[in-house]
Amino acid sequence: MDAQISEPVAVLSRTDCIQVHGREFFVKRDDLIDPLLSGNKARKLYRLMQAESGQYKAITSYGGTQSNAMLSIAALCHQKGWQFHYTSKPVPDYLRRNPTGNLKMALELGMQLHEVAHDEYNDAVLALKSIRDASTLFVPQGGADPIAQQGIEQLAEEIRQWRQANGIERLYVVTPSGTGTTACYLAIALADAEVLTTPAVGEKDYLLTQMRCLGEVPANLNILDNSKKHHFAKPYRELLATYQELISAGIEFDLIYGALMWHTLFQHIDRFEGTILYVHSGGLIGNETMLARYRHKRMLNSPGNYSSLSSDHA
Ligand SMILES: *Cc1c(COP(=O)(O)O)cnc(C)c1O
Repeated sequence: MDAQISEPVAVLSRTDCIQVHGREFFVKRDDLIDPLLSGNKARKLYRLMQAESGQYKAITSYGGTQSNAMLSIAALCHQKGWQFHYTSKPVPDYLRRNPTGNLKMALELGMQLHEVAHDEYNDAVLALKSIRDASTLFVPQGGADPIAQQGIEQLAEEIRQWRQANGIERLYVVTPSGTGTTACYLAIALADAEVLTTPAVGEKDYLLTQMRCLGEVPANLNILDNSKKHHFAKPYRELLATYQELISAGIEFDLIYGALMWHTLFQHIDRFEGTILYVHSGGLIGNETMLARYRHKRMLNSPGNYSSLSSDHA
């Protein structure tokens, strides 16, 4: 597609400018697309948002019970009048007694949760994948599916228009990775920009393996390493500090992917001369449970009584 001749697209999110860590950054505010269906999940589910309600009766998926993808699919199904069947490992007791964050919201949106014992989970997922029924759509964990490509292309087109309108030459586009679907499709769609990402789940090799499930990993995709290993969705002082630094600069990011991406980016920042556009990947509703865990670990002072909390954000 040639940006010069393509029709202007309707823009789903605006672009802001922030000063943080002694530098100027632009932020594509995909977090503002919709309170529930926001960030890269709004982009990845874009094609389904455009679908007729009559096209499906139900969506099935699986994964962690605080997953951002889970909440977004629940919001989509609620809008479309589709059932949403979600398979997970058993919900921890404290969470069952008092659902919070993404789980609470998804249940309120009508998600039907199917808990499966740990040793039966893999078989249950295989069974889900093998359902052959045209009215039921299976969405892989985290929305890692070619269906995501169309919405990411729309995002890329919005970035191209913004870049052209502002005469930006050297452009770096930054976004964090779980499955790598967003970063990979974004790099494919923006061949004349460099996409920077970092793995929030596992390490670089695992991310590359995930991306290869979607196709060839593009050469303009640069996977940055953090100097310290961070386990997925665990509290870390330096990530909380980065989150707070960004709040002071005027924008809230999620504490799992966003805080890690910025923390990693700051470590490498001197290498990148040009304009940096960070694509906000949403996930703010999950901050409720993450902040509770920071308080529980006494890394954050605030009133509130939190019982044992653990992580299930995948
Ligand atoms: C899901 C998610 C990601 C990861 O997206 P992938 O396309 O799976 O790499 C990043 N940030 C947030 C906030 C997310 O919810």
